[in-house]
Amino acid sequence: MAIENQVPEELQKNVFLTSVDFLYNWSRKNSLWPMLFGLACCAIEMICTAAGRYDLARFGMEVMRPSPRQCDLMIVSGTVTKKMVPTIVRLYNQMAEPRYVLSMGACATGGGPFKEGYNVVSGIDKFLPVDVYVPGCPPTPEALLYGILKLHEKIQNQSVRTVPWYRKDTPKGITVPELGPDIFLPDRAAEIRQITMKQKPATAVEES
Ligand code: SF4
Repeated sequence: MAIENQVPEELQKNVFLTSVDFLYNWSRKNSLWPMLFGLACCAIEMICTAAGRYDLARFGMEVMRPSPRQCDLMIVSGTVTKKMVPTIVRLYNQMAEPRYVLSMGACATGGGPFKEGYNVVSGIDKFLPVDVYVPGCPPTPEALLYGILKLHEKIQNQSVRTVPWYRKDTPKGITVPELGPDIFLPDRAAEIRQITMKQKPATAVEES
């Protein structure tokens, strides 16, 4: 049978790449290695998920690595304090591409019960690109597994032609935030200074 009759019309021009995509994504999604770190109570549920009852090994994920250089999945499980953010971003920058971030629980996603607290950030997605959010306080192991399956779907739908890590114009890392009077991104320092000066009363501006 001629190949034109076997392949849908929209795929006839890229059947090779489509097959590469399928194999590439199938093998990647079934061998994700999460980083072994937890931030608060959600981490206990993550640990349960990796144990015998829920058995992460079914997904090729049994190896939780202690080094970011050996991981391709960061599960942010717990409360993200302002003091921890620079370290989390530094760990993310040390992971090799392709890499993914799963935000586990209300705290990691939006601050949870500590939202707008003096020492907690309102979501890790203010600093890192998050691929999947898992709601809950804490999410159950089943919810985390569902989030991981959603990540599998996302990986399966990626294409080697468009993924960012093969593009020359992709930024290599994320700016590490700094702890100042409050946490801020150094590359936004000029903008922040400008806003602060605008908010100061006229007398204070004259004195400074
Ligand atoms: S979302 Fe709930 S269980 Fe998870 S770290 Fe925050 S307070 Fe703890």
